[in-house]
Amino acid sequence: MKLHEYQAKEYFGRYGLPVQKGLVIDRPEQVAGLALRYPVVVKAQVLVGGRGKAGGVKLARTPAEAEELARAILGMEIRGERVTRVLVTEAVDIDKEYYLAFVTDRAAGRVAAIASAEGGVDIESVARTAPEKIVRAEADPFLGFLAFQARVVGRRLGFAGPVLEEFVRIATALYRLYWAEDADLAEINPLALVAGHLLCVDAKLVLDDNALYRHPELPPNEEMTELEAAAKKHDLSYVELDGDIAVIGNGAGLVMSTLDLLAHFGGRAANFLDVGGGASAEAMQTALGIAQRKPGVRAIFINIFGGITRCDDVARGIVDNPPKVPASIRLTGTNETEGQRILREAGIAAGLDPDEGARVAVELARRGAQGREGR
Ligand code: GDP
Ligand code: MN
Repeated sequence: MKLHEYQAKEYFGRYGLPVQKGLVIDRPEQVAGLALRYPVVVKAQVLVGGRGKAGGVKLARTPAEAEELARAILGMEIRGERVTRVLVTEAVDIDKEYYLAFVTDRAAGRVAAIASAEGGVDIESVARTAPEKIVRAEADPFLGFLAFQARVVGRRLGFAGPVLEEFVRIATALYRLYWAEDADLAEINPLALVAGHLLCVDAKLVLDDNALYRHPELPPNEEMTELEAAAKKHDLSYVELDGDIAVIGNGAGLVMSTLDLLAHFGGRAANFLDVGGGASAEAMQTALGIAQRKPGVRAIFINIFGGITRCDDVARGIVDNPPKVPASIRLTGTNETEGQRILREAGIAAGLDPDEGARVAVELARRGAQGREGR
Protein backbone atom coordinates (compact mmCIF):
# COMPACT_ATOMS: atom_id res chain seq x y z
CA MET A 1 0.00 0.00 0.00
CA LYS A 2 1.38 3.38 -1.02
CA LEU A 3 1.20 6.15 1.52
CA HIS A 4 0.90 9.85 0.80
CA GLU A 5 3.91 12.06 1.50
CA TYR A 6 2.20 13.61 4.54
CA GLN A 7 1.45 10.14 5.97
CA ALA A 8 5.01 8.97 5.29
CA LYS A 9 6.35 12.08 7.02
CA GLU A 10 4.30 11.26 10.13
CA TYR A 11 6.17 7.94 10.29
CA PHE A 12 9.44 9.76 9.58
CA GLY A 13 8.80 12.08 12.53
CA ARG A 14 8.20 9.13 14.83
CA TYR A 15 11.56 7.61 13.90
CA GLY A 16 13.45 10.86 14.40
CA LEU A 17 13.98 11.58 10.72
CA PRO A 18 14.23 15.35 10.13
CA VAL A 19 11.33 16.78 8.12
CA GLN A 20 10.05 20.30 7.51
CA LYS A 21 7.15 21.59 9.54
CA GLY A 22 4.04 21.12 7.44
CA LEU A 23 0.26 20.76 7.55
CA VAL A 24 -2.18 19.08 5.24
CA ILE A 25 -5.38 20.78 4.06
CA ASP A 26 -8.20 19.99 1.65
CA ARG A 27 -9.64 23.49 1.11
CA PRO A 28 -7.70 26.57 -0.06
CA GLU A 29 -9.32 28.79 2.61
CA GLN A 30 -7.57 26.73 5.30
CA VAL A 31 -4.21 28.25 4.31
CA ALA A 32 -5.02 31.39 6.33
CA GLY A 33 -5.20 29.39 9.57
CA LEU A 34 -1.82 27.66 9.20
CA ALA A 35 0.87 28.65 11.68
CA LEU A 36 3.78 28.37 9.27
CA ARG A 37 6.78 30.52 8.47
CA TYR A 38 6.85 31.92 4.94
CA PRO A 39 7.86 31.17 2.20
CA VAL A 40 6.09 27.80 2.00
CA VAL A 41 5.88 25.00 -0.54
CA VAL A 42 2.42 23.78 -1.58
CA LYS A 43 2.54 20.10 -2.55
CA ALA A 44 -0.13 17.94 -4.19
CA GLN A 45 -0.79 14.75 -2.20
CA VAL A 46 -1.22 12.08 -4.83
CA LEU A 47 0.12 8.53 -4.97
CA VAL A 48 2.01 9.02 -8.24
CA GLY A 49 5.59 10.26 -8.52
CA GLY A 50 7.01 13.26 -10.39
CA ARG A 51 4.59 15.76 -8.86
CA GLY A 52 7.15 18.55 -9.20
CA LYS A 53 7.47 18.10 -12.96
CA ALA A 54 3.67 17.93 -13.30
CA GLY A 55 3.27 21.32 -11.58
CA GLY A 56 2.06 19.87 -8.30
CA VAL A 57 4.85 21.36 -6.12
CA LYS A 58 4.99 25.17 -5.96
CA LEU A 59 6.69 27.84 -3.85
CA ALA A 60 4.58 30.61 -2.28
CA ARG A 61 5.97 33.77 -0.66
CA THR A 62 2.80 35.00 1.03
CA PRO A 63 -0.39 33.46 2.49
CA ALA A 64 -2.38 35.00 -0.39
CA GLU A 65 -0.08 33.38 -2.94
CA ALA A 66 -0.21 30.05 -1.06
CA GLU A 67 -4.02 30.11 -1.05
CA GLU A 68 -4.10 30.82 -4.78
CA LEU A 69 -1.65 27.97 -5.47
CA ALA A 70 -3.57 25.61 -3.16
CA ARG A 71 -6.73 26.41 -5.12
CA ALA A 72 -5.00 25.71 -8.44
CA ILE A 73 -3.34 22.48 -7.26
CA LEU A 74 -6.51 21.20 -5.56
CA GLY A 75 -8.21 21.47 -8.94
CA MET A 76 -5.53 19.49 -10.71
CA GLU A 77 -5.39 15.95 -11.96
CA ILE A 78 -1.87 14.48 -11.89
CA ARG A 79 -1.34 11.45 -14.10
CA GLY A 80 -4.99 10.51 -13.78
CA GLU A 81 -5.22 11.11 -10.04
CA ARG A 82 -7.38 13.93 -8.66
CA VAL A 83 -5.73 16.08 -6.03
CA THR A 84 -7.94 16.22 -2.94
CA ARG A 85 -5.31 17.33 -0.41
CA VAL A 86 -2.23 19.51 -0.37
CA LEU A 87 0.65 19.57 2.08
CA VAL A 88 1.92 23.04 2.94
CA THR A 89 5.48 22.99 4.31
CA GLU A 90 7.97 25.66 5.34
CA ALA A 91 10.32 26.16 2.40
CA VAL A 92 14.07 25.73 2.73
CA ASP A 93 17.11 26.72 0.66
CA ILE A 94 18.58 23.58 -0.78
CA ASP A 95 22.32 23.42 -1.47
CA LYS A 96 22.43 19.88 -2.82
CA GLU A 97 20.01 17.00 -3.35
CA TYR A 98 20.82 13.36 -2.52
CA TYR A 99 18.89 10.11 -2.79
CA LEU A 100 18.44 7.44 -0.14
CA ALA A 101 16.11 4.45 -0.03
CA PHE A 102 15.66 1.01 1.41
CA VAL A 103 14.10 -1.53 -0.91
CA THR A 104 13.29 -5.23 -0.83
CA ASP A 105 15.86 -6.77 -3.15
CA ARG A 106 14.15 -10.02 -4.10
CA ALA A 107 17.11 -11.31 -6.13
CA ALA A 108 19.45 -10.88 -3.17
CA GLY A 109 16.80 -11.99 -0.68
CA ARG A 110 17.70 -9.00 1.46
CA VAL A 111 16.84 -5.44 2.23
CA ALA A 112 19.17 -3.10 0.38
CA ALA A 113 20.11 0.54 0.78
CA ILE A 114 20.26 2.48 -2.47
CA ALA A 115 21.89 5.90 -2.37
CA SER A 116 23.19 8.52 -4.72
CA ALA A 117 24.69 12.00 -4.71
CA GLU A 118 22.49 12.61 -7.76
CA GLY A 119 19.21 13.14 -5.92
CA GLY A 120 16.02 15.01 -6.67
CA VAL A 121 15.78 13.35 -10.06
CA ASP A 122 14.32 10.11 -11.25
CA ILE A 123 16.66 7.47 -9.78
CA GLU A 124 15.84 4.92 -12.48
CA SER A 125 17.30 7.23 -15.10
CA VAL A 126 20.47 7.70 -13.02
CA ALA A 127 20.73 3.91 -12.76
CA ARG A 128 20.46 3.70 -16.54
CA THR A 129 22.73 6.52 -17.63
CA ALA A 130 25.28 6.62 -14.79
CA PRO A 131 25.13 3.39 -12.79
CA GLU A 132 28.47 4.23 -11.15
CA LYS A 133 26.68 7.05 -9.30
CA ILE A 134 24.47 4.58 -7.42
CA VAL A 135 25.77 3.19 -4.13
CA ARG A 136 24.30 -0.05 -2.79
CA ALA A 137 24.62 -1.87 0.51
CA GLU A 138 22.72 -4.86 1.84
CA ALA A 139 21.34 -5.15 5.34
CA ASP A 140 22.06 -8.34 7.21
CA PRO A 141 18.83 -10.25 7.92
CA PHE A 142 19.85 -10.80 11.55
CA LEU A 143 21.96 -7.75 12.36
CA GLY A 144 20.09 -5.17 10.30
CA PHE A 145 21.73 -2.15 8.71
CA LEU A 146 24.66 -1.19 10.90
CA ALA A 147 26.26 2.20 11.51
CA PHE A 148 29.52 1.23 9.81
CA GLN A 149 27.64 0.30 6.64
CA ALA A 150 25.84 3.65 6.68
CA ARG A 151 29.22 5.35 7.15
CA VAL A 152 30.67 3.56 4.12
CA VAL A 153 27.69 4.61 2.00
CA GLY A 154 27.81 8.18 3.33
CA ARG A 155 31.51 8.55 2.53
CA ARG A 156 30.89 7.37 -1.00
CA LEU A 157 28.26 10.10 -1.36
CA GLY A 158 30.94 12.60 -0.35
CA PHE A 159 29.91 13.23 3.27
CA ALA A 160 32.47 13.83 6.01
CA GLY A 161 32.55 15.15 9.57
CA PRO A 162 29.27 16.05 11.37
CA VAL A 163 27.14 15.70 8.19
CA LEU A 164 28.43 12.14 7.77
CA GLU A 165 27.22 11.40 11.32
CA GLU A 166 23.84 12.94 10.47
CA PHE A 167 23.69 10.72 7.42
CA VAL A 168 24.45 7.66 9.58
CA ARG A 169 21.62 8.57 11.97
CA ILE A 170 19.21 9.11 9.07
CA ALA A 171 20.12 5.92 7.22
CA THR A 172 19.92 3.73 10.32
CA ALA A 173 16.62 5.34 11.38
CA LEU A 174 15.17 4.85 7.89
CA TYR A 175 16.16 1.19 8.05
CA ARG A 176 14.54 0.83 11.49
CA LEU A 177 11.34 2.37 10.13
CA TYR A 178 11.45 0.15 7.04
CA TRP A 179 11.84 -2.96 9.15
CA ALA A 180 9.47 -2.19 12.02
CA GLU A 181 6.66 -0.84 9.86
CA ASP A 182 6.72 -3.68 7.30
CA ALA A 183 7.74 -1.45 4.40
CA ASP A 184 8.46 -2.57 0.88
CA LEU A 185 10.02 0.78 0.00
CA ALA A 186 11.15 3.71 2.14
CA GLU A 187 12.56 6.52 0.03
CA ILE A 188 13.89 10.04 0.58
CA ASN A 189 14.24 11.94 -2.69
CA PRO A 190 15.57 14.48 -2.24
CA LEU A 191 17.52 14.09 0.97
CA ALA A 192 18.60 17.72 0.97
CA LEU A 193 21.62 19.56 2.31
CA VAL A 194 20.24 22.73 3.93
CA ALA A 195 22.58 25.12 5.77
CA GLY A 196 25.00 22.29 6.48
CA HIS A 197 22.33 19.84 7.72
CA LEU A 198 20.43 17.00 6.10
CA LEU A 199 16.65 17.21 5.70
CA CYS A 200 14.06 14.81 4.25
CA VAL A 201 12.32 17.12 1.77
CA ASP A 202 10.27 14.33 0.21
CA ALA A 203 9.14 11.01 1.72
CA LYS A 204 7.79 7.93 0.09
CA LEU A 205 6.61 4.85 1.91
CA VAL A 206 5.09 1.67 0.48
CA LEU A 207 3.92 -0.88 3.05
CA ASP A 208 3.66 -4.60 2.43
CA ASP A 209 -0.03 -5.36 1.83
CA ASN A 210 0.35 -8.69 3.63
CA ALA A 211 1.16 -6.83 6.83
CA LEU A 212 -1.67 -4.31 6.73
CA TYR A 213 -3.46 -6.14 9.53
CA ARG A 214 -0.65 -4.90 11.76
CA HIS A 215 -1.50 -1.30 10.87
CA PRO A 216 -5.03 -0.65 12.09
CA GLU A 217 -4.04 3.03 12.38
CA LEU A 218 -4.03 3.42 8.61
CA PRO A 219 -7.08 4.63 6.68
CA PRO A 220 -8.40 2.32 3.94
CA ASN A 221 -6.27 1.84 0.87
CA GLU A 222 -7.04 4.64 -1.57
CA GLU A 223 -5.61 2.72 -4.50
CA MET A 224 -8.48 0.25 -4.30
CA THR A 225 -11.40 0.65 -6.64
CA GLU A 226 -14.88 0.62 -5.16
CA LEU A 227 -15.39 -3.00 -6.27
CA GLU A 228 -12.04 -4.11 -4.84
CA ALA A 229 -13.02 -2.56 -1.52
CA ALA A 230 -16.43 -4.26 -1.63
CA ALA A 231 -14.78 -7.64 -2.29
CA LYS A 232 -12.26 -7.14 0.48
CA LYS A 233 -15.06 -6.37 2.91
CA HIS A 234 -16.45 -9.84 2.20
CA ASP A 235 -13.02 -11.55 2.31
CA LEU A 236 -13.13 -12.35 -1.39
CA SER A 237 -10.04 -11.76 -3.47
CA TYR A 238 -10.86 -9.63 -6.48
CA VAL A 239 -8.65 -8.24 -9.22
CA GLU A 240 -9.67 -5.78 -11.92
CA LEU A 241 -8.54 -6.41 -15.50
CA ASP A 242 -9.52 -4.66 -18.71
CA GLY A 243 -11.45 -7.17 -20.83
CA ASP A 244 -15.21 -7.79 -20.97
CA ILE A 245 -15.74 -11.22 -19.34
CA ALA A 246 -16.30 -11.36 -15.58
CA VAL A 247 -14.72 -14.46 -14.04
CA ILE A 248 -15.63 -16.24 -10.83
CA GLY A 249 -13.68 -19.29 -9.76
CA ASN A 250 -12.63 -21.08 -6.61
CA GLY A 251 -8.94 -21.22 -5.83
CA ALA A 252 -6.09 -19.12 -7.25
CA GLY A 253 -4.77 -21.87 -9.55
CA LEU A 254 -8.15 -22.55 -11.10
CA VAL A 255 -8.78 -18.84 -11.62
CA MET A 256 -5.39 -18.39 -13.30
CA SER A 257 -5.97 -21.26 -15.68
CA THR A 258 -9.44 -19.86 -16.38
CA LEU A 259 -7.84 -16.61 -17.57
CA ASP A 260 -5.54 -18.64 -19.83
CA LEU A 261 -8.49 -20.56 -21.23
CA LEU A 262 -10.35 -17.36 -22.05
CA ALA A 263 -7.24 -15.96 -23.73
CA HIS A 264 -6.87 -19.21 -25.69
CA PHE A 265 -10.35 -18.74 -27.16
CA GLY A 266 -9.66 -15.09 -27.94
CA GLY A 267 -11.46 -13.54 -24.98
CA ARG A 268 -10.33 -11.19 -22.21
CA ALA A 269 -11.32 -11.15 -18.57
CA ALA A 270 -12.82 -7.96 -17.11
CA ASN A 271 -11.90 -9.05 -13.61
CA PHE A 272 -11.65 -12.16 -11.54
CA LEU A 273 -13.10 -13.10 -8.24
CA ASP A 274 -11.73 -15.99 -6.27
CA VAL A 275 -14.40 -17.26 -3.87
CA GLY A 276 -11.83 -19.58 -2.30
CA GLY A 277 -12.19 -23.07 -0.92
CA GLY A 278 -15.41 -23.99 0.87
CA ALA A 279 -17.35 -21.13 -0.69
CA SER A 280 -20.85 -20.85 0.72
CA ALA A 281 -24.04 -20.04 -1.16
CA GLU A 282 -23.80 -16.60 0.36
CA ALA A 283 -20.23 -16.00 -0.86
CA MET A 284 -21.29 -17.03 -4.35
CA GLN A 285 -24.22 -14.66 -4.25
CA THR A 286 -22.00 -11.76 -3.14
CA ALA A 287 -19.39 -12.64 -5.76
CA LEU A 288 -22.01 -12.54 -8.50
CA GLY A 289 -23.13 -9.12 -7.35
CA ILE A 290 -19.61 -7.69 -7.39
CA ALA A 291 -18.23 -9.33 -10.54
CA GLN A 292 -21.02 -8.10 -12.82
CA ARG A 293 -21.12 -4.58 -11.43
CA LYS A 294 -18.01 -3.62 -13.35
CA PRO A 295 -18.92 -1.40 -16.33
CA GLY A 296 -18.30 -3.00 -19.70
CA VAL A 297 -18.92 -6.61 -18.63
CA ARG A 298 -20.64 -8.47 -21.51
CA ALA A 299 -20.56 -12.02 -20.22
CA ILE A 300 -19.71 -13.95 -17.10
CA PHE A 301 -17.84 -17.21 -16.73
CA ILE A 302 -18.33 -19.14 -13.51
CA ASN A 303 -15.78 -21.91 -13.23
CA ILE A 304 -16.16 -24.02 -10.11
CA PHE A 305 -14.40 -27.24 -9.29
CA GLY A 306 -15.98 -28.52 -6.12
CA GLY A 307 -13.62 -29.99 -3.54
CA ILE A 308 -14.27 -28.62 -0.09
CA THR A 309 -16.60 -26.30 -1.95
CA ARG A 310 -19.91 -28.07 -2.59
CA CYS A 311 -21.60 -27.70 -5.95
CA ASP A 312 -25.08 -27.60 -4.35
CA ASP A 313 -24.05 -24.59 -2.20
CA VAL A 314 -22.66 -22.83 -5.25
CA ALA A 315 -25.80 -23.60 -7.27
CA ARG A 316 -28.02 -22.22 -4.50
CA GLY A 317 -25.97 -19.01 -4.50
CA ILE A 318 -26.36 -18.69 -8.26
CA VAL A 319 -30.11 -19.33 -8.12
CA ASP A 320 -30.54 -16.73 -5.36
CA ASN A 321 -28.76 -14.07 -7.40
CA PRO A 322 -28.92 -15.20 -11.04
CA PRO A 323 -26.46 -13.61 -13.50
CA LYS A 324 -27.81 -10.49 -15.16
CA VAL A 325 -25.47 -10.76 -18.15
CA PRO A 326 -25.20 -13.84 -20.41
CA ALA A 327 -23.44 -16.51 -18.39
CA SER A 328 -21.44 -19.63 -19.01
CA ILE A 329 -21.26 -21.95 -16.00
CA ARG A 330 -19.01 -24.91 -15.41
CA LEU A 331 -19.80 -26.81 -12.24
CA THR A 332 -18.20 -30.12 -11.30
CA GLY A 333 -16.91 -31.95 -8.25
CA THR A 334 -18.40 -32.53 -4.83
CA ASN A 335 -22.21 -32.85 -4.95
CA GLU A 336 -22.14 -32.17 -8.68
CA THR A 337 -25.40 -34.01 -9.48
CA GLU A 338 -27.31 -32.08 -6.82
CA GLY A 339 -25.77 -28.77 -7.96
CA GLN A 340 -26.60 -29.39 -11.60
CA ARG A 341 -30.18 -30.36 -10.64
CA ILE A 342 -30.71 -27.13 -8.64
CA LEU A 343 -29.55 -25.05 -11.60
CA ARG A 344 -31.61 -27.04 -14.12
CA GLU A 345 -34.78 -26.63 -12.07
CA ALA A 346 -34.18 -22.87 -12.02
CA GLY A 347 -33.77 -22.92 -15.80
CA ILE A 348 -30.04 -22.19 -15.69
CA ALA A 349 -27.74 -24.23 -17.94
CA ALA A 350 -24.39 -25.47 -16.67
CA GLY A 351 -21.74 -27.70 -18.18
CA LEU A 352 -18.98 -29.95 -16.86
CA ASP A 353 -16.15 -29.12 -19.23
CA PRO A 354 -13.96 -26.05 -18.54
CA ASP A 355 -12.77 -25.67 -22.17
CA GLU A 356 -16.31 -25.69 -23.45
CA GLY A 357 -17.37 -23.26 -20.72
CA ALA A 358 -14.60 -20.82 -21.69
CA ARG A 359 -15.40 -21.09 -25.40
CA VAL A 360 -19.06 -20.32 -24.74
CA ALA A 361 -18.18 -17.35 -22.48
CA VAL A 362 -16.01 -15.84 -25.22
CA GLU A 363 -18.79 -16.40 -27.74
CA LEU A 364 -21.37 -14.72 -25.46
CA ALA A 365 -19.12 -11.69 -24.96
CA ARG A 366 -18.54 -11.43 -28.71
CA ARG A 367 -22.28 -11.52 -29.40
CA GLY A 368 -22.81 -8.85 -26.75
CA ALA A 369 -20.24 -6.64 -28.46
CA GLN A 370 -21.84 -7.12 -31.88
CA GLY A 371 -25.29 -6.39 -30.46
CA ARG A 372 -23.98 -3.09 -29.18
CA GLU A 373 -22.34 -2.15 -32.49
CA GLY A 374 -25.55 -3.03 -34.38
CA ARG A 375 -27.56 -0.51 -32.39
P1 GDP B 1 8.17 14.87 -6.43
O1 GDP B 1 8.37 15.71 -7.65
O2 GDP B 1 6.83 14.19 -6.43
O3 GDP B 1 9.29 13.93 -6.18
O4 GDP B 1 8.10 15.92 -5.18
P2 GDP B 1 9.28 16.49 -4.22
O5 GDP B 1 8.75 16.64 -2.88
O6 GDP B 1 10.53 15.68 -4.37
O7 GDP B 1 9.51 17.94 -4.83
C1 GDP B 1 10.05 18.12 -6.11
C2 GDP B 1 11.22 19.07 -6.08
O8 GDP B 1 10.80 20.32 -5.58
C3 GDP B 1 12.34 18.65 -5.15
O9 GDP B 1 13.26 17.78 -5.78
C4 GDP B 1 12.98 19.96 -4.82
O10 GDP B 1 13.95 20.30 -5.80
C5 GDP B 1 11.84 20.95 -4.90
N1 GDP B 1 11.43 21.34 -3.54
C6 GDP B 1 10.50 20.78 -2.76
N2 GDP B 1 10.44 21.40 -1.55
C7 GDP B 1 11.35 22.38 -1.61
C8 GDP B 1 11.79 23.40 -0.69
O11 GDP B 1 11.32 23.54 0.46
N3 GDP B 1 12.76 24.25 -1.11
C9 GDP B 1 13.33 24.15 -2.34
N4 GDP B 1 14.31 24.99 -2.67
N5 GDP B 1 12.95 23.22 -3.23
C10 GDP B 1 11.98 22.35 -2.86
MN1 MN C 1 10.64 13.58 -4.74
